Amino acid sequence: MSMPYGVLACPSCGYEATTKGLWGLFVYRSDQGAEVHIERHLGWCHSCHGVAAIEALPDAGRIQAEQVEAKSRWEALIPTTGLQRLRGLFSGSARGLRRQALDALRRADLLAAVVMPGRSPCCLDCGSTDVEVIVLPNPESRGQMQDQGLAFRHPGCPKPMRLRESGGTRFAMAPTKRVYDPQGRFIEHADPRSRLVR
Ligand SMILES: [Zn+2]
Ligand SMILES: [Zn+2]
Repeated sequence: MSMPYGVLACPSCGYEATTKGLWGLFVYRSDQGAEVHIERHLGWCHSCHGVAAIEALPDAGRIQAEQVEAKSRWEALIPTTGLQRLRGLFSGSARGLRRQALDALRRADLLAAVVMPGRSPCCLDCGSTDVEVIVLPNPESRGQMQDQGLAFRHPGCPKPMRLRESGGTRFAMAPTKRVYDPQGRFIEHADPRSRLVR
């Protein structure tokens, strides 16, 4: 798989970085083994002194959607009559539904654990919370312009940074999966096919 990418450049000092750090699969994993996607922004990490992937903490809407799904899966498990219950006890599909319902509950719990009080977004490279998000132009206007100014200034430099597309240069992306705990601390690199995540 190869993709074009963005190049961020500081016109004051010549510093350059790419948006490639955002690529790949990033997941939170709970002690029970549940996994959910980590949403992320491009940002600046004052500890790494560089452009990095910064976690975008799950919002109330995303957490609620997981909770609603978990609830509906549990409700689907409740048989309405004794006969259904008896059949359900012995059917493979009932066991599958039960496993899905447990998974959904664990994902909802995991998302809720990610936004514990006092939690700030982390740098997904080093875990520092001394980070700021770099606001990028929306993709439609990016498609039309070769080179765009950003609001973000490279720390210590006077001029705002600029973003350009890599153009014809494409980057072959090896599939990767980075696993983090609910506090945003890196645990391991895993096989991207090891588990289906959402
Ligand atoms: Zn600079
Ligand atoms: Zn960092």
